[in-house]
Amino acid sequence: MRRTQVAIIGGGPAGLLLSHLLHLDKIDSVILERQTKAYVLQRIRAGVLEPGSVKFLRDAGLGERMDREGHAHDGSWIAWQDREAFLINTKAHCGKPMTSFGQTAITEELYRVRERDGGRIVEEAENVRLFDLAGSAPKVAYEKDGETATIECDFVAGCDGFHGVSRRSIPGAAIKTFERAYPFGWLGIMSETPPVGEVIYARHERGFALASLRGPALSRYYIQCGLDTDIADWPDDRFWEELKRRFPTDIAQRIVTGPSIEKSIAPLRSFVAEPMRYGRLFLAGDAAHIVPPTGAKGLNLAISDVFYLERALAQHFRERDDRYLESYSDMALRRVWAAERFSWQLTKLLHVFPEDDDFETRIKLSEFDHLKASRSAQASVAEQYAGLPFED
Ligand SMILES: Cc1cc2nc3c(=O)[nH]c(=O)nc-3n(C[C@H](O)[C@H](O)[C@H](O)COP(=O)(O)OP(=O)(O)OC[C@H]3O[C@@H](n4cnc5c(N)ncnc54)[C@H](O)[C@@H]3O)c2cc1C
Repeated sequence: MRRTQVAIIGGGPAGLLLSHLLHLDKIDSVILERQTKAYVLQRIRAGVLEPGSVKFLRDAGLGERMDREGHAHDGSWIAWQDREAFLINTKAHCGKPMTSFGQTAITEELYRVRERDGGRIVEEAENVRLFDLAGSAPKVAYEKDGETATIECDFVAGCDGFHGVSRRSIPGAAIKTFERAYPFGWLGIMSETPPVGEVIYARHERGFALASLRGPALSRYYIQCGLDTDIADWPDDRFWEELKRRFPTDIAQRIVTGPSIEKSIAPLRSFVAEPMRYGRLFLAGDAAHIVPPTGAKGLNLAISDVFYLERALAQHFRERDDRYLESYSDMALRRVWAAERFSWQLTKLLHVFPEDDDFETRIKLSEFDHLKASRSAQASVAEQYAGLPFED
């Protein structure tokens, strides 16, 4: 039996960042991760950071590589079939740029600092189980190399993503979930080609498309696809051809094609579990909520959850004060629901839904025209895209 102050389930960005911040506050933690480090680091996911996330990562000593390799940009472009695209300018409306910096690089940095500082990460921890969460001495059991181990702790942080064990360990009567599944997914590719240089969301009658980037020579592109799409039916040539069809000609001409180095399909989902706490278990990141990637909120929400949770745990251990622990779920959920609303609205506007009729399509077009013409409408979207400030 081992002991730690905080047992962290899941070594994705939320779990690793929490562990790093706790270490800076001299609070001991252990991460239990189901996969190997190599597996975690090869996952390609989010890439756009809000200014608040950038500042927070810098303050946590994680800014050097981000400032060197990240790409600061003034916001995102919205394109609509044959109409001229326009920029949702976060710099102009909120005074701050957005930053493209891949989740993979952030995770690599987090692993680097955790290993440098002697952080304890148990890889390939199987069959993790949580016990006595409602009491004052929770326990976590897991299997590793055929042996069962148990950890006693003061708190459990459930950072194990949507499919993890933490949320499922909460009794059904103590949690309420809210969900919207979308009738489509995103087919995405990564290619070592120069990006178009901007983040561009495009709506076309054939479906949504997104041009994004992870570095000066690394591009990320997505197209809306059916849920039954088979990746084998999408060789690179077909993907590039379809992608270009969905952007206005001037943008399509700037897309540099090349062999893909990764190709995957992500289903889209909106999901929230409330509250984000059960006894001494606190949920953070995708374990508690999922947003469709439209609007780039998933990773940013994981970061803000960790900000609130770490601050609360530090207040508990340092000052024997539980006020932030008591308010954790409410505070985190205010930001979560704002991001859920924003990504839902953006998803609705920019995607083609099977039930969209001519009326719905005209309404969406009118919304695009309004957004393009109205400075105050753009300011509102820019404010939400740049993200709400963290609450005191
Ligand atoms: C394919 C894909 C594309 C995405 N693209 C974007 C994007 O473009 N923009 C955006 O903002 N967001 C995107 N997201 C969302 C973003 O990546 C997530 O919000 C972010 O990863 C959340 O971090 P997390 O640490 O909470 O969860 P995760 O990254 O899911 O990490 C959870 C960790 O827990 C581990 N784990 C799971 N179960 C167990 C268990 N039982 N025991 C121990 N460990 C366990 C997992 O192996 C994983 O390492 C994408 C997500 C996916 C899946």
